[in-house]
Amino acid sequence: MAEQYSDGQLLVPHFIAGKAAGLDRTELRRGEIVNPATGKRRGEVLFADAGLVAEAVSAATGAFRSWREASIAHRTSILFCFRELLVQRRRELAELITAEHGKTVDDALGEIARGIDVVEFACGVGDLLRGGYSENASTGVDTYSTRHPLGVVAGITPFNFPAMVPMWMFPVALAAGNCFVLKPSEKDPSASVFLAELLAEAGLPDGVFSVVQGDKEAVDALLQHPEVAAVSFVGSTPIARYVYEAATGGGKRVQALGGAKNHMVVLPDADLAVAADAAVSAGFGSAGERCMAVSVLVAVDPVGDELVAAIAARMAEVAVGPGDQPGVEMGPLVTGAHRDKVASYVTAAEADGATVVVDGRAHEAAKRAGYFLGPTLLDHVRPAMSCYRDEIFGPVLSVVRVGSFEQAVALVNANRYGNGTAVFTNDGGAARRYQREVEVGMVGVNVPIPVPVAYYSFGGWRDSLFGDLHAYGRDGVAFYTKGKVVTARWPDPAARGGGVQLGFPRSSG
Ligand code: NAD
Repeated sequence: MAEQYSDGQLLVPHFIAGKAAGLDRTELRRGEIVNPATGKRRGEVLFADAGLVAEAVSAATGAFRSWREASIAHRTSILFCFRELLVQRRRELAELITAEHGKTVDDALGEIARGIDVVEFACGVGDLLRGGYSENASTGVDTYSTRHPLGVVAGITPFNFPAMVPMWMFPVALAAGNCFVLKPSEKDPSASVFLAELLAEAGLPDGVFSVVQGDKEAVDALLQHPEVAAVSFVGSTPIARYVYEAATGGGKRVQALGGAKNHMVVLPDADLAVAADAAVSAGFGSAGERCMAVSVLVAVDPVGDELVAAIAARMAEVAVGPGDQPGVEMGPLVTGAHRDKVASYVTAAEADGATVVVDGRAHEAAKRAGYFLGPTLLDHVRPAMSCYRDEIFGPVLSVVRVGSFEQAVALVNANRYGNGTAVFTNDGGAARRYQREVEVGMVGVNVPIPVPVAYYSFGGWRDSLFGDLHAYGRDGVAFYTKGKVVTARWPDPAARGGGVQLGFPRSSG
């Protein structure tokens, strides 16, 4: 990435019409970028106002006609090239993510790999845009369907996957012929410009993909802009609800993915060593800042004591430290404020009567300069406690003990979130019953983080998703396109004319 500096400090720009933008706009607000592993300021990011958002949308509107008319082969050849560049430069991008988000470089490489999967899926859009054709639907009449891009579409993304979540959206949107305006998180904005530069290098025409940096002001400008046809949002539930209501109120198509509280249910017959490994991996990877992290472990009697002991033993081995150091498995939280909020849930849980089995507040790493909190295990958590009710989004695993399979399912189904869940068991019948009865969008059977592969779609139920269509996969193609059905008659030259007929057209009779 051609990093932009001002007075020796990193200054992350917008990206409009094929190049960095806004650097000369001294009146624009800015946000601070901090390295969470050190607590040191890395630089600043420019914030867009409504005028700057309008510039990006105008560039997109200007580019739309020729991008829509470009052949599918041309559009996908650019995505193939983008994929190659991304593979070549992924280490650089991963290090950039680590410097602003805090996750380990290996974890950042993982999110880039999952983003590349969606780019590869989008390269096959020709098959997915294929319509149907019915010859002689009525006598001499043929019918066929086609799919069309919406125009200018916007994506608003969270801090926790600064490369992957944008890539859940724009590869499919661009392949289908839309122009895309991305508003990434202001906490780790550099990845978005890196991706924009790679797209430009791959040959994407100017204006087809833009980045506007910023906060609520930029989001509101996108939501209110009449030329923005659709909005994809990923973030916390309150903002997802706000975006959904504001954008649908303005007649836009919206998919707004929200927060989560993912339960991992361990049945009495499960292999407890496997379950304990999975709980630690899925609970503390990326410091629990994943929307598919396991944050609640539901231990079905009598596995509680043995499982808690096995998890606590494994937690002692988790290496916590700066994400760019070899051997580190868990990095810091994204900001000091967020670390303090997560720690406050542990304090509240203790006061509410939960047992703090492993206390991340007392971890060695918590004494470092960055925003560290060690992995934390809470036992005997009850549904009324705030650590159970709220999405904590940190390295805190709450164990709720229940007496039966039925109680486990009832607990999961009563939760306001329905993003992901997993069941651990060796009983195929119990697993099948669980995946049928549980009211959650993504279910893992002995798989703790069941993120669907790129050719399925990602999305939760209840407060985890507002809108009808899930992200990427076939739902993504449906979201970014609209259908048309053509009914055509080419009169037989030998039998022209049939006279005027005022009756309603029908295919038979
Ligand atoms: P967030 O809701 O604070 O921010 C998401 C986006 O909304 C950012 O671009 C941000 O700038 C913008 N935003 C923030 N406040 C706003 C406001 N008042 N008005 C308009 N826009 C606003 O989320 P976050 O902290 O960046 O990310 C973590 C959250 O995202 C967690 O709740 C997590 O579960 C969720 N998430 C969900 C999924 C999913 O697929 N369901 C995936 C990743 C993250």
